[in-house]
Formats: sequence, structure tokens, C-alpha cells
Amino acid sequence: MTWTPDKPIISIKDVRKSFGAVEVLKGVSLDVMKGEVICIIGPSGSGKSTLIRCINALNDIQSGSITVEGQEVHDPKLDKLELRKKVGMVFQQYNLFPHKTALQNVMMAPVKVLRQPKAEVEARARALLRKVRLEGKENSYPGELSGGQQQRVAIARSLAMNPDVMLFDEVTAALDPETVKEVLVTIRDLAAEGMTCVLVTHEMGFAREIADHVYFTDRGVIVEHAPPREFFEHPKDPRTRAFLSQVL
Ligand code: ADP
Ligand code: MG
Repeated sequence: MTWTPDKPIISIKDVRKSFGAVEVLKGVSLDVMKGEVICIIGPSGSGKSTLIRCINALNDIQSGSITVEGQEVHDPKLDKLELRKKVGMVFQQYNLFPHKTALQNVMMAPVKVLRQPKAEVEARARALLRKVRLEGKENSYPGELSGGQQQRVAIARSLAMNPDVMLFDEVTAALDPETVKEVLVTIRDLAAEGMTCVLVTHEMGFAREIADHVYFTDRGVIVEHAPPREFFEHPKDPRTRAFLSQVL
């Protein structure tokens, strides 16, 4: 089966996931087309992180299926490295190597994991740091950068693998308010260039601005989903309304 861009680049079908006896995802389905940006919102503990970690196989699943570009992510025969080259992920905790510069952090995986030639990787890493608006910070160490700058290095590091899809899990949640915006601008730039993005976020204004589709999760199910305008102006389910009235 060959994937073509008229089919979903990510297709999640009736996924169930448990930790021990506790079922955390209770039949979740969701499709993402190439170039789309989807935002997942919902209360803490509703399964948002678990869901996106299933997409790049950081979590296994009990049943259902997840495909990326037509390939079953949870097929034991799938090469996890190939999957993670295709699907980049950025977390709340950016975990840069503290004793490496911004440039070295971005270069690390392509050089060490993919064994790509250093000069080539360096040129690309410099371009990526420019893209995330960190020109001039190439030689700075993480400790010399603000939280927002470090998070942008983490985004550049992920982009260095040349992914087709980017997953963002509350990447601004741990940042000082004044640096949140610069990270959101970076994500908006990426989306505008056509990167397929799945974002878990508490930034409702941003979700509304950037998303093609917003999903609301509660207790392991997708309660409702809609284009942002419809979602925020006419939420249908009482749980969505209650959540939005707390956060807006
Ligand atoms: P969210 O990101 O929406 O806050 P999570 O996906 O992190 O929610 O968590 C959903 C539920 O799964 C929570 O009840 C959480 O305690 C549980 N959970 C998440 N990760 C693990 C794990 N590794 N082991 C056991 N339980 C977990
Ligand atoms: Mg989470």
C-alpha cells in the first residue's frame, strides 16, 4: 500500500491505550492531512500527551491503528528510527545538552545518529537556527539562553532530522510569559511553510488562530472537534463549554 498526499498523513483509528488496568485512551480516532495543523485541547489527565506519544511509538497501544504516511506505527517490524526521522517531537521540557552550544545541539542527531557529513549538517543547522530566529546564538550554551530561546533550539534540533510531521506537546507551558510568543511565532512560521503539525496546547488564542481543526479530549475520548471558529464560538458538548468557560 503506497501512501499519496490525498490520504491522511496521520490516521488514528479507534485507539485504546491502558497503563496497567487504567484505560487512558478509550477509542480515539483522528485524521490529519498533509500540511494541516490540528490542536488538541482538554483538561489535564485527559490523555493528550499519551495520544501524541502513541503517534511516534513512544507509547504502545492495546488496539486500533495509527498510520503515518500509510505505515502502521505499531507494527513490530517498523524501524523506529525511520519513524522518528519522519515524525519530529518537541516537549514541554526541552532537555538540551547543557555542555553543547545551540549549534552543536542541533547538529548532534544528524551527525551521530544519521551519520551525515558534518559540513553539510552544520550548514543546515545554521539555516535552521536562522529559521527559528536565533541567528547570532549559534555559539551560546543553553544556560545562556532564555527558556523561549532554548525551546526554539529544541524545535530546530527536531527539524534537523527533516521530519514530515511535527508533534508539539505543550511546548510553551513551562516558559515565562514574555518568551511564549516567540515560540508560538516559530510554530506559526513552520505551519505557514506547510509543515504538518499536531499541537497539544493551552494557548487558546493561538489554537484559534493557527489550527485547521481543534479537538477537545476529556477522560480518554474525543468529545468533539471542529474548525476553530465553530469550535470556539459554538461548542456543542457541555463538557467543552465548561472547559472553555474556565480557560477563556
Ligand atoms: P494529559 O497530557 O492530557 O494531561 P496524559 O496523557 O499525560 O494526560 O495522562 C493521561 C492519564 O494517563 C493520566 O491519568 C496519567 O496519570 C496516566 N499516565 C500517563 N502516563 C503514564 C504512565 N507512563 N504510567 C501510568 N500512567 C500514566
Ligand atoms: Mg500532557
